[in-house]
Amino acid sequence: MNTVIRVEGLNKSFGGKQVLFNMGLAVQPGEMVALIGASGSGKSTLLRHLSGLACGDRRDAGSIEILGRQVQAAGRLNRRVRRLRADIGYIFQQFNLVGRLSVMSNVLLGCLGRVPRWRGCLGWFTSEEKASAMAALERVGLAEYAHRRASTLSGGQQQRVAIARALTQGAQVILADEPIASLDPESARKVMEILADINGKDGKTVVVTLHQVDYAVRYCRRVVALKAGHIHFDGSVDALNGVFLNDLYGGDLDASL
Ligand code: ADP
Ligand code: MG
Repeated sequence: MNTVIRVEGLNKSFGGKQVLFNMGLAVQPGEMVALIGASGSGKSTLLRHLSGLACGDRRDAGSIEILGRQVQAAGRLNRRVRRLRADIGYIFQQFNLVGRLSVMSNVLLGCLGRVPRWRGCLGWFTSEEKASAMAALERVGLAEYAHRRASTLSGGQQQRVAIARALTQGAQVILADEPIASLDPESARKVMEILADINGKDGKTVVVTLHQVDYAVRYCRRVVALKAGHIHFDGSVDALNGVFLNDLYGGDLDASL
């Protein structure tokens, strides 16, 4: 299979301030890549552009190709964009569940990009879709919470529901922006293990931004480090060392551990 994510010459500024500089990145099928870097280095901006979620937030230059398809810079929400988005699962730091809906309904929302719009509007799902949502909940260890209101779950559980939603969506690529930043260490470990599991067992391509370097080292083989909008390092985690990391975090390495 071909390269899953290909970025070339990506530049982005906000109001005259450039935040991404001539970025190039290629991610192969089945890779799990950690995107690290100090706060403000451009991780979220890069990830948002990869997802096609950066609607109305045009890049200044460059091309982005996901699964062999161009992500349009203009970002108009047409059928092509919807279909591409259905192949990309996006995990947010704050989970983005609909709190008043059940866990099951939240997971079924993953189907919306693929079912006819009228069915989505009516909340009408087939028994296959429901079975697949339940299987995804089992996968993340939350089947028994299916009928609970999403807002009653802990942060770590809500993040696992968000992953189940991406699985039900049938996403081939998972982009996760600081998925563990709001979680306690035990919940963070569980979320990272699930991401590593769907990468290892299902061969999903995962790009995950992490503020904490130790999680990147533990769960990812490849690390891409951003510094002030530039790709400062792209290679094996084994090549990371304390001197490099201290430089990356501007001498504030402790904050990242
Ligand atoms: P990170 O995720 O690594 O913390 P971000 O991608 O969020 O970094 O931000 C990179 C830079 O872009 C920061 O200087 C931030 O202030 C700026 N930035 C991000 N989003 C916007 C926006 N919507 N409008 C203006 N500036 C932004
Ligand atoms: Mg960020």
